[in-house]
Amino acid sequence: MSVINYITQIQFGFGALETLKSECERLGIKSPLLVSDAGVRAAGIVDRVLAQLGADGKAGVYDQTPPNPNEQAVRDASAQFHDGGHDGLIAVGGGSSIDLAKGVAVSARHEGPLRKFALIEGGAANITAATAPLIAIPTTAGTGSEVGRGSVLILDDGRKVGLISPHVVPKSAICDPDLTMGLPPLMTAATGMDAIAHCIETFLSPLFNPPADGIALDGLRRAWSNIELAVSQPGNKDARLNMMSASMQGALAFQKGLGCVHSLSHSLGGINPRLHHGTLNAIFLPAVVKFNSSAATVVEEAKLERLAQAMGIAGGDQVVPELASMRERLGLPSGLAELGVGEELFGRIIAGALADHSHKTNPKDASEQDYRDMLEASM
Ligand SMILES: [Zn+2]
Repeated sequence: MSVINYITQIQFGFGALETLKSECERLGIKSPLLVSDAGVRAAGIVDRVLAQLGADGKAGVYDQTPPNPNEQAVRDASAQFHDGGHDGLIAVGGGSSIDLAKGVAVSARHEGPLRKFALIEGGAANITAATAPLIAIPTTAGTGSEVGRGSVLILDDGRKVGLISPHVVPKSAICDPDLTMGLPPLMTAATGMDAIAHCIETFLSPLFNPPADGIALDGLRRAWSNIELAVSQPGNKDARLNMMSASMQGALAFQKGLGCVHSLSHSLGGINPRLHHGTLNAIFLPAVVKFNSSAATVVEEAKLERLAQAMGIAGGDQVVPELASMRERLGLPSGLAELGVGEELFGRIIAGALADHSHKTNPKDASEQDYRDMLEASM
């Protein structure tokens, strides 16, 4: 196990969960509220976390995180945080539980509705150091939210927005691949494609951040060569370790921003919260990367060639077909139609994508018609 310090202090490796008690002590958390979901609790992982805290721990548990967390869930968990006299949060789960816990960490220590803190409403400055301390323990490998400075939540008005601030970054991330060993194949595939989307999109973002580019390319290399193994051999420890690393790396890197894969999937996920974020990203990736392949910075810096090198494929012109082929090999849905998403939703999806924070860091400016073309190609 290694200790990595890059924005967040990260305990990484098999057995990392054993550091939980000392991490609570380091952060001065005496009475944490665990934020999780019913599935993670049923899998016994919440009990494993509670066992690490010991019998003297005054921990509470909120296990009702919805698949796409919303403002009502933030209110409910915040009320439990206050009523229980808690002084910190431990998120145990996938991106949904971690993002919800981030929302609770902000709203438990700041007045006002969530939209006041949304990036799109200029709310970043309203998030202060008063934010409650959070330890994030991922149980999936994809979102990387344990090291990310954003939380994506659905507001009462239906918009899916990002709360983005350095204060939202968990004070500690405990990445123990052992917690992902029981993840079913389809969930391993969908969350893994989210990690791949993060690495690719942030690498293609035109912002200047060479360290992030290096981290993203290495993350892509690990994910691309291990995702099928993790799906076909769920007990393969090496594959699980590499997927968890790729997930962490994607999110360490995406401080550089994401692109149209995420502006589209954030928007559609807000319209239909039952759709899985990683699955949507897998569907949007080929059309968006094809659109971006003619962007000036992508061409000048031979970025498709560098992606191909990381993926271990023949050349830059193979990236788009390989993305589509990987989605198929993993058994993920072939397109939006299979998910029941029809053209009648395009107008709403496009409006949401144009307003999303990831829209601005796409390497090529996407117009309404460009988005329509990408959606049609993703059917
Ligand atoms: Zn994502």
